[in-house]
Parts: sequence; structure tokens; C-alpha cells
Amino acid sequence: MSAVDSSHDSHDVVVIGGGPAGSVAGTFLAREGLRVLLLEKEHFPRFAIGESLLPYSNDILRELGVFEDLEKAGFTPKHGAEFCTGEGARFQRFWFAKSLQPQYAQSFQVDRATFDHILLNKAAEAGCHVQQGAKVTRLAPVSEAGPHRLEFQTEGTTRTVTTRWIIDASGRGGFAGKALGIPKLQTQKSRRVAIYGHFKGVLRNSGKAGGHTTIVRFKDGWFWLIPLANDVTSVGLVVPTETVRLCEGDVSQVFEQAVRANPELVARLARAQNTVPLRATADYSWRFRSFATPRVLLAGDAAGFVDPIFSSGVLLAMKSGRLAAHEIIRAHQQNRELSEGEQIQYTRKVAEWMEVYHGIVNAFYKRPGFEVFMNPAAFLKIPGSIAHIVGGNTELPFSLGWRFKLFQALCGLQRFFNIAPAISSLR
Ligand SMILES: Cc1cc2nc3c(=O)[nH]c(=O)nc-3n(C[C@H](O)[C@H](O)[C@H](O)COP(=O)(O)OP(=O)(O)OC[C@H]3O[C@@H](n4cnc5c(N)ncnc54)[C@H](O)[C@@H]3O)c2cc1C
Repeated sequence: MSAVDSSHDSHDVVVIGGGPAGSVAGTFLAREGLRVLLLEKEHFPRFAIGESLLPYSNDILRELGVFEDLEKAGFTPKHGAEFCTGEGARFQRFWFAKSLQPQYAQSFQVDRATFDHILLNKAAEAGCHVQQGAKVTRLAPVSEAGPHRLEFQTEGTTRTVTTRWIIDASGRGGFAGKALGIPKLQTQKSRRVAIYGHFKGVLRNSGKAGGHTTIVRFKDGWFWLIPLANDVTSVGLVVPTETVRLCEGDVSQVFEQAVRANPELVARLARAQNTVPLRATADYSWRFRSFATPRVLLAGDAAGFVDPIFSSGVLLAMKSGRLAAHEIIRAHQQNRELSEGEQIQYTRKVAEWMEVYHGIVNAFYKRPGFEVFMNPAAFLKIPGSIAHIVGGNTELPFSLGWRFKLFQALCGLQRFFNIAPAISSLR
């Protein structure tokens, strides 16, 4: 790992963070010949949550040239997802192959430490200068439109680097958004906590459905079960912050109580043993009002966080990382900063992708919406449009978009009329 030259402007772009957003951005930038420094505070491989991928990520994974690497890495093939209620009475299973084109028939359940490392290595291979153990601590514009000076700490010393462009891919900490004072918007009212761990011996579906993500919804929250390799299953619980407060912050107690209260979980975890202590993290949606300045772009969770129920985070991180890279490549080649229009356009595009998920997340959390979701009217091909979103298609063409709008309208009507059968355990 070579030392950073801080005495002159030696990099075109600094990418903050080596998660999926940062590695994807770094790879595309370096492939176009830009001099890229990627600063990552941890040393990889490192743990990260967010293990279920969506098939619409396949395009980017193929563009990066890592799709075969993922197949070789032995990650669990994921052919769909399923949703059920805590007492097990209601069940809805999606198969990607049924509704999506063949290239989206399969995705992966990944150990993120390995997955993120594969992507970071790809960025280095493309020519990106990757520095691990380098935590960015300060960002200051040298002039109003840049360049920017960044301070980072590595091996006990503070260094500075000046750069024309910055992509902030630092994750949920939102480093640059905060440093630039961009206001935050809370896009979900309720605050929730996720409590999760890895377990061995969890009861799995048989056959191809053995790789499905299982989501179990009960009155006050939901569980995820994500089957990873070597009989490890990622099991997580999402509940309102208030539930954890009532148990005086004892997350193990909250987790055990919720398992006991849901027969579906009792059955699946009957022989399970956790292999790592449970972790907990805040879990609610927000985003910065804007994701761009003339010289800084926010990508992935550093732009905003979408509730993870539909496993959209890594997809959105990779998509926004790729888009941010393309925006910079175009402007850099024309030796100019991003115009106001381009900044607005970037924010609008990424926010639109997030919006698709906010729409379906809202339906999931509200009882009437979930009742319709578990019974999407088979007429007018509505289940097909839902399957596209479950698979990660954020560019809904008109033919799917209006069906999704109709689905949302049905969710609204369900409050007054029983369009879909009621789910008594949620009432
Ligand atoms: C409970 C939960 C469950 C989830 N489940 C899923 C799921 O099943 N599927 C899915 O797709 N998504 C899921 N997500 C979302 C997913 O984890 C994120 O959306 C995804 O990791 C975002 O990628 P990123 O590259 O933007 O950020 P990250 O993956 O967070 O990467 C950011 C990187 O930046 C580094 N960094 C941070 N600050 C600095 C700094 N100052 N200097 C240098 N480096 C820095 C960090 O060390 C990290 O490596 C889940 C999230 C949560 C909270």
C-alpha cells in the first residue's frame, strides 16, 4: 500500500468508503482512466449486514465482471422470496423466473464480508488506489466550487489530500452530507430497531426454495431468515424502538420473546444455535434533501437509507455508485463541474429509485396494505408488477407502473372494504 502524496492534487476523485457503492463507483471511474483514491476506514474482510441480493443487481455485477466470481464463491443461489404470518396461516411465495426475464431468474444470498471484499478487489484491479484503515475525518472546500481538501487518519497520523471530485459512499453515517450541512428528511415516521445474528441448524425449505429469503410478519414487527452457505442462516428481527425500551434495552430478551410469540419462528428455530452474539442497529428510512453539489456526489446509504424489508440496499448502493461515477466521468472529460441541472437530475433519479421501495415498504407495514400484498389481485397482472419490485426493478415501465399504482390504491381501499381477506393475527 503506497503512501498518499498530500503535497499536490494527485487524484481526480476521492471515494469515501469501500462498501458496494464505493467499490462500484471506484471501478467505473478507474476504468475510464480517472485517478481514483478510495479511502476505507476498516480492513477487509469486515462484517456488514445486508446479505440478500436482488436479481436486478445482476446487470451491474456482470458489467463489473464479478458475476462468475460470486458463483465460484459458493454463495447460496436465491431464486425468490416468500412472506408469511407469524402463526404460519398465510403464505405468499415469489419465484423470479416466473415473472422476470431469464437473466434475472437468480440472485445470491451472500456473506457480506466476502462479497464486499470481492467488489473492493475489483476496484483495485481496475486501477483504483485503495487505502484501507484510512478514516476520513474532515472535508472542506478550498473554494466554493471545489476542489476539496479531505483529512483522513491512517496508522495514527493525519493526512490531507486535495481532490476535484468526491463520491461519498461512507454508508449510513452520511459523512459528506453532514459535513456539507445538507438537511435530512425522515421518510418513515416510526423508528425501529433491527436485532440480528447468525444461526446454524435453522429449518430450511427443500429444493430450490431452500435459497429463498423468508419474511415473517407479525403484529408489531417482522423477522427475516436468509439462508447463507455452510448451514448458516442470518436471522433478524425488526421491532419498534419502544419494544426494546420496554425490555430496558435487553435485545436478547426482545428477540427470544418475539420468537416464542410466533409459531413459525419456533418451528424454524427449534434446533438452531446462534454462532455469533446478537447485534442491534437503528433501522428507519431517511435521506438527505439533495445528493449532489458541483463537485460532491452522495451514493448508497450515504445518500439515504431505505427500510431493508425488500432487500433493496445493496442494489441501490451499486446503482447510485455507478450513476455517480458516470456523472463525474462526463463532466470531468469536459473539464467542468456539475451543472445545477445535473445535480438536480442526479438527486431526482436516485430519490425515484428509493421512492419505489418506500411505496411498497409503506404497504408492508400497514395492516390493510399487507393484507392486499398477501393476496395481490390476480386480475390485471398485478402480482407480476409486485414480483418486479421484489426482484429489484426500479425502472418500472408504464405497463408495470400503473399496475403498481393500482396495487397501492387497493391497499388504501382495504382500510374501508375487505378487498382481500383480513388477517386476524394482525388486527
Ligand atoms: C438491519 C439491516 C438489514 C439489511 N438487509 C439488507 C438485505 O438483506 N439486502 C440488501 O441489499 N441490503 C440490506 N440492508 C442495507 C445494506 O446493508 C446497505 O444498503 C448497503 O450495505 C449499503 O452499501 P454502501 O456501500 O452504501 O454502504 P456500506 O456497505 O455501509 O459501506 C460503507 C463503507 O464506508 C466505510 N466508512 C464509513 N465511514 C468512513 C469514513 N469516515 N472514512 C472512510 N471509510 C468510511 C465503512 O467502513 C464501510 O465499509 C440492510 C440494512 C440493515 C440496517
